[in-house]
Amino acid sequence: MNMEKRRQILERLRAENPHPTTELDFRNPFELLIAVLLSAQATDVSVNKATIGLFAAGPTPAAMLALGVEGVREHIKTIGLFNTKAVNVIKTCTILQEQHGGEVPENREALEALPGVGRKTANVVLNTAFGWPTIAVDTHIFRLSNRTGFAPGKNVDEVEQKLLKWVPAEFKQDVHHWFILHGRYTCIARKPRCGSCVIEDLCDYKDKPDD
Ligand code: SF4
Repeated sequence: MNMEKRRQILERLRAENPHPTTELDFRNPFELLIAVLLSAQATDVSVNKATIGLFAAGPTPAAMLALGVEGVREHIKTIGLFNTKAVNVIKTCTILQEQHGGEVPENREALEALPGVGRKTANVVLNTAFGWPTIAVDTHIFRLSNRTGFAPGKNVDEVEQKLLKWVPAEFKQDVHHWFILHGRYTCIARKPRCGSCVIEDLCDYKDKPDD
């Protein structure tokens, strides 16, 4: 795929959704961090249901620590891996409280040092809470980047590096959300909806279904 095609794809996705954002509910960097931490192997809808009560009871790291692992677990027990996640939420809040004054650090290294926070989560927080032009590659972005030929790669790191290289600066802030939403609702894993896809004529996928 050439750069002109890439630009056209991004322009179409931007025209479709000029101000994209995450489907996770949050009001500040702390809530976003916790929501993303909880979203591993869970849907955004299920996380949002759980965080209504969780954030009401624990709106700050200090308040979350007062809930303890048991209290957090009660609020998130409808989400997959809730035992491990409850432990990680409390460990993360301990570090935020003890090392960062109760704030979420705007720093990749510090974020990745938090329990349960990897490169992808750090990228989401830096992008969506702090406005950095980072690109977090999740399963949807990985699939879309490969199917379309936009940024093919064998693993998420390779795809991320190609996206960082090939996405023009003006689109970098939002490409993460455009690709996630397009992958989640149109270029779905099981059977992509090519017939209603706004980039169908620009996409290099060889196995587009007929209907
Ligand atoms: S044309 Fe099909 S395979 Fe290509 S991006 Fe659209 S939905 Fe995905």
